[in-house]
Order: sequence, then structure tokens, then C-alpha cells
Amino acid sequence: MRIGILSDIHGNLPALESVLKKIDELRLDRLHCLGDIVGYGSFPNECVELVRSRCTIVVKGNHDSGMTGETSIDDFNNLGQQAIKWTRKQILPEHFEFLKSLPMMATDGSVTYVHSSPAEPDQWTYIFSIRSAEEAFSAFTTDLCFIGHTHVPVIIGEDMSINAYTPPRDKSGNLQRRFLINVGSIGQPRDGNPEAAFGVLDTETLAYELVRVVYDVEKAAAAITKAGLPTALAKRLYQGV
Ligand code: ZN
Repeated sequence: MRIGILSDIHGNLPALESVLKKIDELRLDRLHCLGDIVGYGSFPNECVELVRSRCTIVVKGNHDSGMTGETSIDDFNNLGQQAIKWTRKQILPEHFEFLKSLPMMATDGSVTYVHSSPAEPDQWTYIFSIRSAEEAFSAFTTDLCFIGHTHVPVIIGEDMSINAYTPPRDKSGNLQRRFLINVGSIGQPRDGNPEAAFGVLDTETLAYELVRVVYDVEKAAAAITKAGLPTALAKRLYQGV
């Protein structure tokens, strides 16, 4: 089975629609979502609606949790706080309840799914250091663990090797070790590439690839400005930062 792994949509409907179009072309069998469906972008309800109708496993992100009030937004930066306050006024009650009901972590076969880190997932740790990566590896037992949260795609091996696109294999094609795989962000990429990012995994062979999709950034940015959200949230989409 080929599955699509989506993360950090952040209310960016034009990006999500373009990704779903690509996913339909690729004829993927199943979709899972790593959270942060809302926050920053101006289409929270539309994005939650699509995730609810298309995704099988959905785990909670810190912006989802901040919006429902389960996580304090005091630690969010100013732009994040403003966006959460705006989103709280827009979100439909049924979508609010859906986000509140999401699990922090899920496991399916040889794969773990979590927004930030499998080590204390409600602490929303960013895996940017060797120490945080080592703590993450000690907290899951499957071959692979998919994460989002940093909005920067990366593949980290258990020996702390870093690969941008494909986990290394031996001559027989077997994975050489366990991996943490960050699938990047659909709605607010921060790796200097404005194209929406998502992951595709073959669950039988564990072959993985990162897919980038061009979308209508202008449309997403104009909607952010029109909604009265901070213009900085619109501008960053053009640079992918
Ligand atoms: Zn995020």
C-alpha cells in the first residue's frame, strides 16, 4: 500500500488543494496527517473539513492544541498568537471538537506518527539537535517514525546520519537502520523552497520519497491579508521561510 503523509497544513487551502490533486494523480491508497491543520492561514474550517474527509490517521499539532486551549499559547511567537486568536473566532464547533479529540501519537504496523517528537509529545520539542533526535529514537520501537513541526524536511538515521530525500539501503534493498522522517510542511514550508511538501511511503518495501508541489502562493497570501491576519504571514509564503 502507498500512503501519503501530510503535515503542517496551517489553514493554507490553496496549498492543500494542490497537494490533494497531486495525490489523486499518484493514486495513493491512504492518507495520514501529522497535525497543525490550523494556525497562520486563513482557511481553518476548509482545511479541517478536507483532512477529516480524506485522512485515516490524524494526530494533534501544537497549533491545533493551542487553538483548543489545551496548550498555552504564551510560548508561541507573536505572529502565532495572533493567528491562534483569529482562528478561535472562525472555527466551527464541530471542527473545534474534532481537533480536541485527536490523539498525540499513533502507530500502524512498522510506522509511528507524531507531530513533534515521540519523546514526551505534549512538550512539542523541535528535533533540531542530536540530543533531541537521540531522545526521540529511544521513545519509539517501529522501523520508521514520521514527524513534522519544524516545517523542514529531513531524514535522520539512528546513527544520526542526515539524508535529504531517501533513506539509505544495503545491496539487497533493505533499510540499513531505523529512521525519523520529517515530511516538511504543506502550508508554510521553511526550508527556503515555497513549494508545498508531503511524503509518500510504500508500506511493504518502506520505500519513501518527498514530493514538492507548486501551488498558488498569491491566492493564499491575498486571503491572509484580506482576513486581517499579519501581513508577515503572507509574505513568508513567497520565500518558504
Ligand atoms: Zn507547524
